[in-house]
Amino acid sequence: MALSSDWKTEAGLFKECDRRLAHETLQTLKQLKIAPQPKNFTLWFRYHQQADQRLVDEIDALIESGEPLSRDVLSDLYSRHIAQTIGTKGLDSTVEKMEAAARGFLGYMADAGRSSERHATNLHALHTDLADDTANAVSDSSVQSLFDQLQQMSRENAQLSQKIAATSHEVAEIKESLRHTREEVWTDGLTGIPNRSAFDNRIDQAIADAENGRGLCLIMADVDHFKRVNDTLGHVMGDKVLGIVAKILRHQLKEEDFVGRYGGEEFAVIVFDNDLSGALEVAERLRASLASRRLCNRRTGTYFDPVTMSFGVTAYRNGDRGADVIQRADAALYDAKRSGRNCVRSIQER
Ligand code: GH3
Ligand code: MG
Ligand code: MG
Repeated sequence: MALSSDWKTEAGLFKECDRRLAHETLQTLKQLKIAPQPKNFTLWFRYHQQADQRLVDEIDALIESGEPLSRDVLSDLYSRHIAQTIGTKGLDSTVEKMEAAARGFLGYMADAGRSSERHATNLHALHTDLADDTANAVSDSSVQSLFDQLQQMSRENAQLSQKIAATSHEVAEIKESLRHTREEVWTDGLTGIPNRSAFDNRIDQAIADAENGRGLCLIMADVDHFKRVNDTLGHVMGDKVLGIVAKILRHQLKEEDFVGRYGGEEFAVIVFDNDLSGALEVAERLRASLASRRLCNRRTGTYFDPVTMSFGVTAYRNGDRGADVIQRADAALYDAKRSGRNCVRSIQER
């Protein structure tokens, strides 16, 4: 069967690496004797993508331990690594579509397998017939039958290639829509930076990385007297101020650092550094940068009082969970508020 090359050229949009991953996924399912169902396909496709290190580690450990990859084990992996990270209606429906596409894809592969088996059987029978014929007695009907078989095979190959190309195209579109939906789900609509869910996710990852030696400091930042900003300028301007604050914070940070809206007028910054003093410097830079701006209402040309923020900083300690780090950064932030606001405070390292 010339399926793969037809598929590659006709699909066009389906990238070579996706094709390779799909094939690797199918091979793995076969090798591990896992039923090629859509959810299993999705889970193992994700494994082969190697984008989710925790999923990869968990599966590798399972394989190494020799524990049977039972339906329950796979279903648990799927619900924690695939379903949970996409727990919204929009994403669910996208994943359903993806699963349907995977179902279609697997169906076509099965068709292809059956069709090729059938042709092989027919050709084998013909070959036996021809071998039985005497040298110059190869009958017209045998040749015609061989010719018909080849034509039929070629037609079916073309149809299958078309179906696979269409499915591949669909999968590419679904992937794009999944990427968009995922971005929307993780993004705060008002400020355009990551939202609370994204932060919760990121801090968990950061804690797991910190357990493996990566640096981690958390800065919690809260706009000072924001209620007054709303009271004097109105909520619409208050919203705009939050957008500007988010931009300034993002702009002052390294790309690898994380800043998200924790809630209301509170922001969370993750700095991947072991050193508390380094994170204190970052917080001080953020504080000074904001306090030195004079925000102006372009429409009226009037300047606002500077908007300031208070900052609480802490560093990861061995054994910390996300909630511990957040609690300490919050306590430090509370200290900063009590100390008069527009300042940075930390909980000292033990
Ligand atoms: P403090 O310095 O102690 O933090 O004082 P504060 O006024 O900032 O704190 P408080 O918790 O008393 O008030 C927070 C205000 O932030 C009240 C709430 O209406 C406002 N706020 C929260 N989220 C938004 C938002 O999305 N848009 C606007 N415009 N205001 C918001
Ligand atoms: Mg506040
Ligand atoms: Mg607050």
